Parts: sequence; C-alpha cells; structure tokens
Amino acid sequence: AVSPFLAIPSELSSEAKPAIIHLKRDQHQALVLKPESTLQTRFGNFPHSSILGLHPGSQVRASAAVPSLKEQRKRKRASNSNTTTETEGIQTAAGFLHVLNPTAELWTASLPHRTQVVYTPDSSYILHRLGAGPGTQIIEAGAGSGSFTHASVRAVYNGYEDGRELGEGEVKVEDNKKGKVWSFEFHEERAGKLREEISEHGLETLVQITHKDVCAEGFMVPSEEGATTSPRANAIFLDLPAPWLALPHLTRQEPSPLDQEKEIRLCTFSPCIEQVTRTCNKMRELGWVDIQMVEVQHQNMEVRRQLQRGYDEGAGPRSIAEALTRLKGVNDLRDQRKDAQIAQAHGEQASFAGLGFKKSNGRRKQETGEEGRIVSRMEPELKTHTSFLTFATLPRVWTEEQEKEAAEFVKEHV
Ligand code: SAM
Repeated sequence: AVSPFLAIPSELSSEAKPAIIHLKRDQHQALVLKPESTLQTRFGNFPHSSILGLHPGSQVRASAAVPSLKEQRKRKRASNSNTTTETEGIQTAAGFLHVLNPTAELWTASLPHRTQVVYTPDSSYILHRLGAGPGTQIIEAGAGSGSFTHASVRAVYNGYEDGRELGEGEVKVEDNKKGKVWSFEFHEERAGKLREEISEHGLETLVQITHKDVCAEGFMVPSEEGATTSPRANAIFLDLPAPWLALPHLTRQEPSPLDQEKEIRLCTFSPCIEQVTRTCNKMRELGWVDIQMVEVQHQNMEVRRQLQRGYDEGAGPRSIAEALTRLKGVNDLRDQRKDAQIAQAHGEQASFAGLGFKKSNGRRKQETGEEGRIVSRMEPELKTHTSFLTFATLPRVWTEEQEKEAAEFVKEHV
C-alpha cells in the first residue's frame, strides 16, 4: 500500500497508521494509531480505536469527560503545595480533536525535534530550485530530525501506481527509475531514530539512510555485497556545519556519487555568512557554476477589516436614495485613494488621508473610510530558522563523441 505521506487516502485504514492529531491552532501531535492504544490529552482521552477508520479531517469527541482546565490548574497548584483538594462535584468538560492525514508539512510542524529543522518555506523553495521532481535521486546530509527527508521524498516520488491497478496506457515505473532520497547522518542515534520513523511511515523503499561522516568518507553507499554503490544523484542538499568539507566528495571523478549523464544541482544551508563565503570559494575551485545565495524571509501576515460601527454607521440604508448616496461616497473614496496612490508612486506627497499609516502598538492601521479599517500585523511566531541558501550547478561533462553528435544535430535541425 502507498504511504499516507504520499497519497491521501479517502479514509484512514483500520490497521496501525501514522496520523496527525490537530488539537488546536498550531498544536499538532504526530502518532501511529494502534487499535489497543489510547491518546491522553488535556482535552480528554481518545482510544485510537475511535479514530481508526475515520475520514481524514473528522472531529472526534473525547471518550470521557475530563476535569476542566481551571480544575486541572487548581489540582496542580494543590499538589505542588501538598494540600488536599476536594474532588467531589468538580467541573468536567469533554473535549474534541481532529484527525488529519499525515503530510510532509504537518510532519514538519509536529515532529520530535532532535536538531534544528528545515521548515516548509525553505524546503519548498529548495526543492523547487533543485528541480526535484518524480524520479530525482536526491542526496541529503545531515538528515537530523528528518524534516527535509519527508519533504523531499514526496517531491521525488513517482510510483503513484504502487498498490493499485494500472489504468489504460499506464506503464509501471521500473524500480531503478524511481525517485529516491539518499540520506546521510553521522550521529548514530539520530540515524537509528530516523530509520524507525521512515519505516513506521511506510517510506523505507524510498529513503536510504546511511550512518556515516560525509566530510571524511563521502557519499558512496555500502551495498549488500560489501562493496559500495553510487546514489547517481542529480540533486543535493547539504545541511551541515562545514559543507565545504563535503564538496570534494561531490565531483565527477570515479567512483562518483553523481549521475554522470545529468547536470547536478546543489543547495547548502548555512546560518552564517562566513560559512557561505567558504562554501562559495570551494564551489568555484571545484567547477560549480551559477552560484547564487538566497535568504527566504517568510512571514505570515494577518490582514483583516475591522468594521467600526458608530451610532449611525452600523445601520443599513433607510431608502434606495440613501443607499445610492452611500455607494457614490464609497466610489468617490476609492477614486481619491487611487489618485493618491498614483501620486505617491511618482514620489509626490499623498494628500489623501486614507493612505496615511499610523503606527501604534506595533500595528499598522490604514484608514479606509466607509469600508471599515484594514488592520494588518505580522504574526509574532516565526516558525522558521533563517539560514542562507547557496545554490550552484555542476554542468554535465560531454565526451568528444557527444559534442560531435550535438554539432551535427544543430546543423541538421537549427
Ligand atoms: N535538515 C535536517 C532536518 O530538516 O531535520 C536537520 C539537519 S541538522 C541541522 C544537521 C545534522 O547534520 C545533524 O543531525 C548532524 O548530526 C549532522 N551532521 C553534521 N556533520 C555531519 C557529517 N560530517 N556527516 C553526516 N552528518 C553530519
């Protein structure tokens, strides 16, 4: 069966399954649902059997009422100060949760952190720039908590026919053409934990985790026969403290971990500009081209209209004539605002009060007359740790024979 991380099923299976529990906004919990287990939360107890088999997105009520939050706090205070508390006649409340199908994004939001992780705004941009798509062989090092591993495995997955009958004209992707994540981690415990999670998530055929120090030993992977095999990667992501030490192992010199018939795209993720400089110098030395550094400054912005209902404003128009007058007022206001915006774009002083921003308590307010006031503010919690992303390309090497063929092709067709 296809991992729920790759294809969203219409309903959760009644067997053991990974799922994400949505407790409240920005509070998720990842778990593997098992018929005999129970999830205990501050919103109540939820036997897994009451969740298994439901449609993703379903709301589930707690099996039994639990003490209200106020009561829980009171009890905690009492137990801290060693005083006894009345348990008779306490207030109780039965809470609920929502069960969601796991996705790479939800996993990133809920995974157990063993290291700093790459968040979705960065990983989505990185995978896009690496050209990662179905069939890509991607190297990642170090694997850390496996956040980027989950994002990349979905990007490279091209076995959508797995576990179902092929439609007319559909051809099964051969195993050796399937996209794969070649993951490296030198911290033994982290490598082992990630291996467990990847297997629980049904992704073990698509992610190969190798426990090794890539800076010292490179990216070749031990094979069953005791020799080594090449990932033949065409995309690489390095989230390491010293990426410049790993780069000498990413050349076309055999035995090479790279796909010799493709151009290679690389991204390194470093928090300090000094690391970026050292990485760029090494990249240049080793023949990487198109070197570019980017920083993703992702911010959520909450924008909403706040209607100010005064004594008269809140009431609807009392006649058609009044409605038309009001409408004209709104249109005039819009025209004035447009004129002022154009003036401002030309560097002139905007005369319309509606464009003036007032700063108060960190909020920016824009007066918009009759339509209500637009209030916007940055969401305070920034779930991303900013690093510099350095991208580079290693061009494909052409043999003399291939150069000749290409020249003939151009002569014939162009
Ligand atoms: N990208 C990961 C994620 O999204 O969860 C986080 C990576 S974490 C910041 C860096 C990891 O690199 C650590 O787990 C560390 O053990 C590993 N590491 C550092 N140097 C390494 C090396 N030379 N070879 C392999 N892994 C290494």
